Amino acid sequence: MNFNLSEQQRMLQKAAKDFASKLIKPQAAEIDASGQFPFELAKEIGKRGYQGLPYPTEYGGGGAGYFGYALALEQLCQVSMTVGAIMAINTVPQEAIIRFGSEEQKKRLLAPLARGEKLGGIAFTEAETGSDPQAITTTSKKSGDGYIINGQKQFVALAPAANLTLVFAKGEGKGLNALVIDTASEGYNVREPCQTMGLKGLGTSVVYLDDVRVPGENLLGEEGQGFDILREAISLGRLGAAVEGVAVAQAALDIAIDYAKQRKAMGKPIAKLPTIQWHLAEMASRIEAARLLVYRAAFARDQGPDIKYESSLAKLFASRIAVEVTDMAMQVGGSYGTMTTMPLERLYRDAKMTEIYVGISEIQRNIIAERLIE
Ligand SMILES: Cc1cc2nc3c(=O)[nH]c(=O)nc-3n(C[C@H](O)[C@H](O)[C@H](O)COP(=O)(O)OP(=O)(O)OC[C@H]3O[C@@H](n4cnc5c(N)ncnc54)[C@H](O)[C@@H]3O)c2cc1C
Repeated sequence: MNFNLSEQQRMLQKAAKDFASKLIKPQAAEIDASGQFPFELAKEIGKRGYQGLPYPTEYGGGGAGYFGYALALEQLCQVSMTVGAIMAINTVPQEAIIRFGSEEQKKRLLAPLARGEKLGGIAFTEAETGSDPQAITTTSKKSGDGYIINGQKQFVALAPAANLTLVFAKGEGKGLNALVIDTASEGYNVREPCQTMGLKGLGTSVVYLDDVRVPGENLLGEEGQGFDILREAISLGRLGAAVEGVAVAQAALDIAIDYAKQRKAMGKPIAKLPTIQWHLAEMASRIEAARLLVYRAAFARDQGPDIKYESSLAKLFASRIAVEVTDMAMQVGGSYGTMTTMPLERLYRDAKMTEIYVGISEIQRNIIAERLIE
């Protein structure tokens, strides 16, 4: 592994940082406070080519690879985890299509997502299950040359803005089907927004699927292959959540350092106190370790398709340190750290989300252990 960035990767990282600080940063607090999905920013991410960064240019992508994707995503998430998460989640259906779609599906379904002309979501979670896709009750029944979908999906991010959703539904035989649904289809209804403590403004909603007709050409892979498709595509979602964890932790450390240099106690900056220095050093070492795991997982995806182990390791660790680091930053910030006028409390709330969404930490441990004892 060589993490010496190429000139191109450095430019990508810098462009993402500039974009984030000029366009996203001024809106970050408002997106969190209002909980409204940032439609215009989502379009802007697409226009600037961030939506399909890892994918080949022949399918509308940026050709930057997964490592390039992780570098850019990290910059966006440092400023607003919600906005970064829009980019990360939109990549999951793209990953499913590039891995399991036919050539025709890559051109018809992947290219508009990668070019940023359309936005895509993913829907596997239901009211009664998130961690066990085998318990999914949404059904897909054959009808003519297509399928009729019925069910209800919980916590569907990007729902108010998505044009396509990758839905996982029980087939008539064994296993799940993975179907790309046009959200303008009759019977596809976005209902209650979910009021989550972090990742506000992600458009996380309940989606009802009532007799939704899906053409057969939108089935990814084979009938019954949905579980495999979910496991593979979601591992890229986990890489995204791990990047988010590193980014919020880094943002919290940067704020804590600035604050510690300015805030005085007993006549000197608190940055001179050993207890504060201990916090800052702990934060930095945990972030650096998590970043290496994250970069390693992105690098591994550039070498080959299966990163279930690497992305689970990265997500488990990065999400944990995100919670620990934002907690320490709050401690450095004292009462001011808890105020909504400072972004620390937003980072603290967002950090916890990374341990839960795109698969809880317990599931990451199961995946890691499975590989260790196979
Ligand atoms: C902001 C946000 C956005 C989301 N976006 C999407 C989306 O776009 N699409 C989508 O489909 N879903 C989405 N989700 C759903 C999310 O991915 C799931 O909620 C998550 O995977 C956890 O599932 P659960 O809530 O059903 O937890 P459960 O499965 O009910 O788990 C609850 C607890 O039970 C224990 N547990 C459960 N299973 C096991 C096990 N096998 N081994 C050990 N312990 C276990 C754990 O302690 C776990 O924390 C989103 C959620 C949020 C909060």
